[in-house]
Amino acid sequence: MTEARQRLALAGIESAGLEARLLVGHLLCMDSASVIAHGDRALSVEQAAAIRNLVAQRAAGRPIAYLLGQREFWSLPLRVDERCLIPRPETELLVERALERLPAQRARAIDLGTGSGAIILALVTERPQLEAWGSDASADALAVAADNARRLDLSVHWFRGRWLEAVAPRPLFDIIVSNPPYVDPSDPHLQHGDLRFEPRTALVAGDGGLADLATIAGQARARLYPGGWLLLEHGYDQGCAVRTLLTQHGYLKVASHRDPAGHERVTEGNCPG
Ligand code: GLN
Repeated sequence: MTEARQRLALAGIESAGLEARLLVGHLLCMDSASVIAHGDRALSVEQAAAIRNLVAQRAAGRPIAYLLGQREFWSLPLRVDERCLIPRPETELLVERALERLPAQRARAIDLGTGSGAIILALVTERPQLEAWGSDASADALAVAADNARRLDLSVHWFRGRWLEAVAPRPLFDIIVSNPPYVDPSDPHLQHGDLRFEPRTALVAGDGGLADLATIAGQARARLYPGGWLLLEHGYDQGCAVRTLLTQHGYLKVASHRDPAGHERVTEGNCPG
């Protein structure tokens, strides 16, 4: 334990103690409290080698979520790996807004570019009556999403394709949500932290990061019931650009909402009747 913590601290990992406990616990199948109580007990040669290997990967920058194979989102334990983006806490704002906009009765919702399935699975957990759909261009990502749905015993229809392309034109949706790629390809953040290890196709979009947001705004308009809502996550400095996009496509009541860090992070628009 001590060795693992020191190695991570040396590599500049901020929560070295916590992450060392998580990695050791993961390998020994122990919770954090047991690791604290027993983590320094004699390990077999194989266990010690396996822990050193995980710690070395973390020290080299591999995201802790991929090493543990898990990330919590909306209190759901989701399986994640290199095939999908790691769910972010700020994306919970998108779930909150979508819940606000979902009709009280039976409704149909789709999550475009679903990745691990985080957003749509959170919505189904809150609204078991929801007729839920998820699409992704990546068959790999869809396999992760479908596996998460199975483990959580939640029902979602999965479609492979870019945004709404593979989804039948009828019936229409009450809610369309998406956290698409929105990072500018030249953004230096791509060279730091977890982003270095995540699928680029899930992160990067042309036109300064706006290309996919624009495509979705266009496609979604004809696929919403009158009065239905489109809700998009976007970059901290893209609120104004996304409001303009939605307004140009004829959406009404266009508004942005701030994440807990105070950044405009989600923009929504209402489909005219
Ligand atoms: N929010 C992610 C970030 O940290 C980007 C996710 C996305 O492109 N949808 O940059």
